Order: sequence, then C-alpha cells, then structure tokens
Amino acid sequence: MTAGDNLFGRLLKRTHTAAFDLPDALGSPPVGLSIFMDSDGGVLQMAGPLRHLLVQQKPHGQPLPLNTYLRPHSTLAIHGRPLDWQGQMLDLDFPCLGEQTLHLRGWVLPSGNGWLLQLLDISDLLLERQQSRHREACQLIAGQISEQLRACSQSRLPVVVSEQLQVLAQRWHIPCIALALLDEEEQGWQIYRQFRAHDAPTLWHDGQQLGTPLDSLNGSAPQRVGAHHGLDEHTRVQSLFGSSDGFAVPYSDDRGVVAWLLCGFYPADHAMSYLADRDWMLLAGALAGPLLARLREQQHHQQMERLESLQFLLDTGWWEILATGEHIQLAPSLTTALHLESSTQTLEDWLALIHPADREELRSRLHALQQQGETLTLSVRLHQPDAGQAPVWYRVQGQVAGSGSQRRLVGFMLDISDIQNQQQLAAAAHARLDNLIASSPAVIYVQHYVEGALLPTFFSASLQPLLGWSLADCAAGALVQLVHPDDRDLYFERTRQLLREGSVRARYRLRDSSGAYHWLLDEARLLRNDLGIPVEAVGLWLDVTEATLAAEQVKQSEERYRILVEDSPAMICRYRPDLTLTFGNKPLATYLECTAEELPGVDLGSWMSDEQRAAFVQRLSLLTPELPVSTAEISLQLPGREHAWWVWSDRGVFDEQGQLIEVQAVGRDNTEVRRSQQQLTQSAKMATLGEMATGLAHEINQPLNVMRMAIVNVLKRLGNGDVQIDYLTDKLNRIDAQVQRAAKVVDHMRVFGRRSEIEQQLFNPASAIEGTLSLLAEGMRGKGVDLRISETGFAVQVRGYVDQLEQVLINLMVNARDALLGKRENDSAFKPWISIYAERDEQKVRLWVEDNGGGIDPRLLERIFEPFFTTKPVGVGTGLGLSVSYGIIENMGGLLSVRNSVEGARFCIELPIAPDA
Ligand code: ADP
Repeated sequence: MTAGDNLFGRLLKRTHTAAFDLPDALGSPPVGLSIFMDSDGGVLQMAGPLRHLLVQQKPHGQPLPLNTYLRPHSTLAIHGRPLDWQGQMLDLDFPCLGEQTLHLRGWVLPSGNGWLLQLLDISDLLLERQQSRHREACQLIAGQISEQLRACSQSRLPVVVSEQLQVLAQRWHIPCIALALLDEEEQGWQIYRQFRAHDAPTLWHDGQQLGTPLDSLNGSAPQRVGAHHGLDEHTRVQSLFGSSDGFAVPYSDDRGVVAWLLCGFYPADHAMSYLADRDWMLLAGALAGPLLARLREQQHHQQMERLESLQFLLDTGWWEILATGEHIQLAPSLTTALHLESSTQTLEDWLALIHPADREELRSRLHALQQQGETLTLSVRLHQPDAGQAPVWYRVQGQVAGSGSQRRLVGFMLDISDIQNQQQLAAAAHARLDNLIASSPAVIYVQHYVEGALLPTFFSASLQPLLGWSLADCAAGALVQLVHPDDRDLYFERTRQLLREGSVRARYRLRDSSGAYHWLLDEARLLRNDLGIPVEAVGLWLDVTEATLAAEQVKQSEERYRILVEDSPAMICRYRPDLTLTFGNKPLATYLECTAEELPGVDLGSWMSDEQRAAFVQRLSLLTPELPVSTAEISLQLPGREHAWWVWSDRGVFDEQGQLIEVQAVGRDNTEVRRSQQQLTQSAKMATLGEMATGLAHEINQPLNVMRMAIVNVLKRLGNGDVQIDYLTDKLNRIDAQVQRAAKVVDHMRVFGRRSEIEQQLFNPASAIEGTLSLLAEGMRGKGVDLRISETGFAVQVRGYVDQLEQVLINLMVNARDALLGKRENDSAFKPWISIYAERDEQKVRLWVEDNGGGIDPRLLERIFEPFFTTKPVGVGTGLGLSVSYGIIENMGGLLSVRNSVEGARFCIELPIAPDA
C-alpha cells in the first residue's frame, strides 16, 4: 500500500469524472479551485473540480466573505480585502465532506471588477511533510526502543517491552497495543506484552494464547482489520480485535513472520495518515527484533545449560577430533569424569585411558571413522591400575558431521558401567541357570499354539542327556509317538486340560532314544496375549522314574508286609502308650478268641495283674529313640484261660520331639516252654531232694539222737529214783527243741518240694541261704565238711522265686560236697570246707559258693553248664543240676558263673537288686 492509495489521492484522481458547472466569466479551470470575489472579498462564484468537495458551496443569495468557507483558525492571513492579499501566497484550509480538510494554496489576481483567487490542492505536500516528521520521530523512537531492549537486563526484558509499548501508544494515540510472538512450541501466537490506555477496554492480557488466527494474515505488510474496511478479514482475526478496528504490523526474520505488533481500537486510516507502512514495520522490527534476539539468546543459553547438566547427569559428554586429526576435544563433563586437566588431549593420551584389551579396537575404529567416515559404536573399559575396582565401561559413538571444509568428526562417550556390569551379572546368572537346567533332571520346553494344537518349538539342552532326543525328534506328531501307548490318552487329556484351564500337571511315560521309558512329571502353563488368545505353553519335564519305581516298590513291599503280618504265626499288634490296641493280627485275635476287627480299642493292660502292668509300663518308659526295642517275657491272665506266658518284643515309634506315640509289638506264646521249664525245674528239684535224702536223714537223725540220749538219761534217772523236777524240765525242753528243729526241716522240705509260684516275688537272698543251710548244714557237718558262712545280712531284695534260688544253692553245695568227698577218699588227712559269702554294690548282689575240692578241669569249664553234662558215673549224676541252675538265675535276670580258685571251684550267683517299690 502506498500513500497514493489514501482518500485524498483517490479524491484527486476523481477529478476527471466530476461534473462541474463553470460560469462563463470564469471559464473552466482544469484543476484546483477558482473563486471569484468582489472587492470586499465576498465570494461570488466558484469553479474547478475541487468545488464539489466543499461542505459549503457558493450561496445563491448575498455573497458571503471568504472566511465563512474556511476552517476557523486555520488561516491567518485572510483578514482585510483581496487588494491587501495581492502578491502573497495563501494557504487556506477548507472543510470538506467526510470531516476532511482540503489544504489549498494559491494567490489573488485582479479580474475585471473583482478578484480571482486561484487555488491548488497541497494536501499531498503537507502530508509528505507531516509524514517525514513522523518518520523522523519514528526512527528516533525505533532507535531508542532497540537500544533499551538491547541494554536492559534479561529479567527486566518484559517490563521494558511494556514501557516501550506505552511510548508507542502515547506517541500515536493507540488505545490498545500489544506485541504477539510466535510460540514455536505451542504452534501458535502469544501476547508477549500489552499496554492499554487507562480509559480503553481490555483487549488482551500478558501471556495470552491467541491460537493461530494471525497466520491467516498476509505477513508482508501491515494489515487493517475492521468491520468497515476489511478486505479479507477472517472472523477469528476480527474477534482478536474485539470486532472493532484493528491494525496489525508484521515482523519477519529468516524464519518467516515471527511477531505482530497489534493496535486495537485504532482505525487504520488514522494510522496511515501519519506513518507509512515501512515506518510501522520499522517500529515493529525495533521492538520485536532485539526482543526475539534476546529471547533466543536466552533460550540458547538455557539449552546449553540443560545440555551441560544432562551430560553431567548421564556421565556422558561430546568429543570432537580436531581438524589436525591429532587432537581430541572433550566436553567439560567428560574432562571431569575422566580426571583430565585439560579438555584438549592428543589422541594417544586419550587412547591411553582405555583398557589395553579394548584400546586397539577403538584405535582401528577411530581410524575407520577418520578415513572412511564409518560410524563408530563401541563399548570400552577404562584402564584402571587397581584391578580390584569394578570396571568402568563407556560407550563411544562417533560420526562424520558436515562435509567438505565443514567436515567434522564428532561423537559422545556415555558411562554404561551400570548397564554393562548388570549385563555381565545377568549373563553370568543366565549361564549359571542354563548350566543348572542342562545338568538338572528337568527339561524346560516351549510349545507353540497353532489353531488348537501345541507344537514343540524349544527344549532346554537337558533334553539330550535325559532322553537322547533333539527338538527335531520331538516335533509336532513325533512327540505323541514317543509317549507310552498306555499313556497316550493321558497325554491328550493333558493337552486338552492345558488349553481349557491354562495349566496342567500330568505324569506319563516317554520313550528315550535307547527305547527305555521314563516316567515324566509334566507341569505346563499356557501363556496368552493381551486378547486372551493362547500364544504358547511353557512347561517342565521332571524325570520321576526312580521316584515312581520306588513308590511302586514301597507299595509292593507294603503289600508284602501286610501279607506277612496277616499270615504270620506270631502275634503282631500296635498299641498306644496307654496300652490301647490300634491293630492286632489274626493270630493275636485267634489267641484271644475274637476277630481281628474287634481288637482295636482293647486295653492290653486289662490282662495283666496290677504289678505286671506297672512293670510293663515301666519297661515302656525306658524306650528311647536311640534304644527303641525291648524284649521281655510277660505273663498274662486271660479271662477264663490258664496263665499264659508271652515272649514280647516292643518297638517304640517316636515323634520329632522324641515323644513315644505308638508301640509295635511282636509276641510269641511261651506258655508251653514255660511249663516244661517249670516241669524241668521241678524234676531237678525233686532230684535234688532225692540227692539230699541221705543228708536229710542225717539232718533229722541228729535231733532224734539228741532226743534219744535225753530220754535214755531221763529213764536212767527215773530208774534210780533220782528225778528232780528241774532236771526233768531241762531234758524235756531239750527234747522239745529237737522236735521243733526236726519239724522245721520237714516243714522246709515240704515248702521246697512245692511247685514255684507263678509270678516272681521280691525276697532277700539271705533267706535262701538260710533255707539251704537248714536242709544241708547238719548233713555236711556229719560228713566232716567244714561250713564257713560269712555274715550275709544285706537289706537287699531281688526278684524271682526264693525256692528256686535255694535249689541253685543246694545244687552248688551238693556238687561241692561230692567233689570234696571224692578228694578225701584219696587223702584221708584232707580237710574239706565250703565257704558261702556275699557282697553287693549299687546294682548287683553276688553270692559266692567256694570249696577246696580241687576245682574243675579247665578243659571242662566251658561245658559244665550244658544239660546232661556230667563227670559222675551213670546213675549218679544227671548232668542237669548246673544247667537248670543256670536257667533259674538267668530267669531272675542274673548270671551264674564259675572260676577255679586256688584250692577249688568258686561259683558266683550274680543277681540284679530290685529297686525299692
Ligand atoms: P551232676 O552233678 O549230676 O554231674 P551237674 O550239672 O550238677 O551234674 O554237674 C556237672 C559236672 O560239673 C559235674 O559232673 C562235675 O564234674 C562238675 N562239678 C560241678 N561242681 C563241681 C565242683 N564244686 N568241683 C568240681 N567239679 C564240679
């Protein structure tokens, strides 16, 4: 747009179309305005093209003075009469249509009886002058604005822009003014700063986002926006100016239009009257140019800062090989990270920082980059003298930037120690895992899901050692063929269940390459994608052949044991520590005359006497996890049955705390054995009695002799008539004592001859010695054997049968007597003796029976306890005495043993002392 387009220009150009009515006196001047006046300056006639523009044209009545046609105060030299004006240049302002003013210049010439005022339009001239004044002011202001914006501090930039907007607004009476900048990030326009006169309405505010309406404006020249003059207005642009007159001045740089100076409520024509487009653009440029430069500088600075800190944060930094190719420059962050003093290094120094293992590779890659421009990507370790430190890894990347003389070799180094070290750890863990899988009896597999079928796509390396197959051997249909024919249904069901439920656990047999079958435990899981469609199955085969076979064997052996227990002739049962049966086998049930089913719940102790039961429980209490077995002979009183003897073996079962939870027992009926043993003992006892007959006769003979002597003496006295009461009483007392003594022997014999009690009793072994002596002592002495009896009075108790212990003692003494008498037959001077003595300690009591009969032939010592072993002539010895005696002592929990002493044999009866009840 040029100044020539303005209204005045257009009005002037219209002259050739204007119709005018020129009086004949004046002629018809082609341009300007001709006014014919009378000598007083009253306007008589007007002519010329400008005549039609005047507000007030010549009246048809009385001529009016020229002044009435002029703008008041606009003209100074128009007083007086035309004669006075002659020879002067007159500048006159006429009001014309549209509130405009017509600036005309001319002079008066006498014409007939009047004066002709000839005027020409000088608006252009005036406008030009005015414009050049404004332009000067504009340039000044523009310079000041730029200066202000360049000089101010960064932080004051927005304030200074506001101030400068205010200067513009005030200078050119702009109600609202704003500077809009292109916000590249937001892809739109933003009000950077605005200013409005105090009485102007608010159009914009600082920082306002405008969107893109300004894009639709032509950015090559200032644009007018408004309801009246709009040419190509856009509604959005209009709304930007509050739908009133607006004026927008663009500013462009190498990026295109980047700023608009917006003037609101500002008629464009008004603006045009003072400043040319280029002046406006100068002003916009003065404001936007330095501002944008400052802002970009700031942005650049921030970016640099960000980059720097980013490099530090990432342990990374750029490098560039300098033009000479000998030196490398490193980013400050790298210089610091690598502990370098200078950011410029020779390539060699730089390479020396790299671990020798990676150095040559980097050197060759660098060379390739320098020579062929090959992009460089390499992970390298730093050379660390201290081998103990974790390696520091850098990724070095480089490339060629630019070309020709602009060719540069640039790149970066990034510390990837964390990643690298983790990768190495992960790789190591991976290798370990692989190893583990490969060496474990497990095979990991992946089966691909294809339209409902599962096709093997992967097996871990352990497949080969385990089954001898490869992936190819197990592909698709081949796998099913490897499944044991009996297990194929299982396998198909496993696949169906896997697809249906997403996971499965199955067990089937698979053939290996040697033809043998393996039991495999198969655990698989189905993996689905986001849509829930199966993708693949991942699973594990565990070779459970051994476990399966072992379980099979256990089952079989359990079965065997069950049969064994059921069919065993032995009585087998299980019971709880309170003696309640939980199981009993058939023989036990048969023995108890019931069925095996009736046994659980029966109290084992109900068949025992209180004493037996207490002893039984006591024995159980001694069971420990270390010594869980105990064997004993127990005697039972079964309802309606004879007394029974069982040899009973108990085995305790303990829980983890060592608490007895169950007892398993095996028993055997020993009643018969017991009975025959008793029978044997009894027979032996009777035999002993028989043997003792001589001794016993002597035993009884002794008192009889004493009595007979007493009676003979009494009768003699009676014959002499010399009977005194005292004497008689004395003799009768003596006879009575002898009778008692004989009765005692007979009594004891009767007791001794009886069968033993059924259950063992507690007794003092001294009473057995006493009993023995009552039967044998007299007989021994009668045979000239010296009995040496030591004090044996211990307050101890042993468990057993007193008559049986007596029987043992009798046996030993009789044997000793036989040996002694045998010896004396050869040597009449021989003085035989038998010594009986006892001793005790905490647990044991020992009774010794020793003689001086010469002892036993050492070669026979081993055998004398055998049944029927005797050295005596047939009919004399039975060879049962010691054998029975041994059994009796053993039955009492003791031990019968023999040694040869200096003069003869020495037998020892060792018995456990029964604890006090
Ligand atoms: P018997 O007395 O009927 O021979 P025993 O079993 O009582 O049977 O004795 C076995 C053998 O032991 C005797 O024949 C005898 O040779 C030997 N014997 C036993 N006691 C003595 C002893 N005190 N001194 C020497 N020999 C003995």
